[in-house]
Amino acid sequence: MSPLGSDLITITARPDVVFAEGQGSWLVDEAGKRYLDLVQGWAVNSLGHSPALLAQALAAQAGRLVNPSPGFYNRPMLDLARRLVELSCFDRVFLASSGAEANEGALKLARRWGRKERGGAHEIISFEQGFHGRTLAMMSASGKPGWDRLYAPMPQGFAKARLDDIGSVERAITPASVAVMIEFVQGEAGVHVADPGFVRELRALCTERQLLLIADEVQTGIGRCGHAFAYERYDVEPDLMTLAKGIAGGAPLSALLCKERFNCFEPGDQGGTFCGNPLMAAAGLAVVNEVCRPDFLAAVRQRSEQLARGLQAIAGDFRLPGERGLGLLRALVLPVARAEEVVEVARGLAPVGLLLNAPRPQLLRFMPALNIGAEELDEGLALLRRALRQVLG
Ligand SMILES: *Cc1c(COP(=O)(O)O)cnc(C)c1O
Repeated sequence: MSPLGSDLITITARPDVVFAEGQGSWLVDEAGKRYLDLVQGWAVNSLGHSPALLAQALAAQAGRLVNPSPGFYNRPMLDLARRLVELSCFDRVFLASSGAEANEGALKLARRWGRKERGGAHEIISFEQGFHGRTLAMMSASGKPGWDRLYAPMPQGFAKARLDDIGSVERAITPASVAVMIEFVQGEAGVHVADPGFVRELRALCTERQLLLIADEVQTGIGRCGHAFAYERYDVEPDLMTLAKGIAGGAPLSALLCKERFNCFEPGDQGGTFCGNPLMAAAGLAVVNEVCRPDFLAAVRQRSEQLARGLQAIAGDFRLPGERGLGLLRALVLPVARAEEVVEVARGLAPVGLLLNAPRPQLLRFMPALNIGAEELDEGLALLRRALRQVLG
């Protein structure tokens, strides 16, 4: 028998486990072992694995209409756009399939606006350590060390500032600057939560210098931070916003939202074969309606407090530097670079494993299903203690 995955192009080191099915916060592998999942497909399964609501929305729409072409309207596309406009401070929506694609759309819209209204301004200011996706332009926008050389030459026109340092943003501005793109919580960088004072200063600076403020809410949006959108917690309104990850509960869907003032694509400027397809729009509508209910969001905030308290207790007992995060996007900082080891030990626990993510060598990230139960979360914290005891003693 050939080794597992030998027909796949190598992109990452995967463990020798094949996942067969999932239900809520639980995953089951082909050998029948169960895992409590606090990764949830990298924060995409907002309602956990295989929620009935998503299965029903997909099945009903698949039997009705899958893709009439992005050149025609379809009902789920219109309904989802209407719902996102109702929920947010934005007026217009473009639907796509991935976070990177929505972000590309945001930067294209910003440059289009720069051409029309700002004499050709086109440079984008983004943040060191930031993450905006894996297309070539989004790799330029991201601030991951080494990404500027991996596939060089890279698209140009990106300047970098430092999160929470308004002076660094001011210094990055040139007459050619058109927009600032920010994650309110830098997820991949290690769950760095932007300071509210900094975000308010940034909003004021962007207004004063005629720069678009683009919020990349691919990870923080749709309930993840305890509100429909993280910008609500900062009490600022971005000019453009992107959503993806949790918006369709694990199905591939993303969105770019803008205020009417910036709705400046000419027909033909932007598009994509799968953009606005009714199958994914129906999935998104079902998930957004569920997640953005006030009582659902209140429960997310309760689970978030429970997770924060649990991680603080663990940090105290194991003498760890601490925990941080916003809503159900949290991280535990380790004193040593052994997070990957903790991930492996946690996955190997018996009889049930625990699935965790280590975006940095000294950091564990938690992004459970937004509807995880209180007991399930406690069980996860208990499993985490077992894994930490094995690795850190
Ligand atoms: C995951 C992520 C992206 C990229 O989304 P893809 O769907 O993987 O293209 C962009 N921005 C942020 C903040 C993300 O967390």
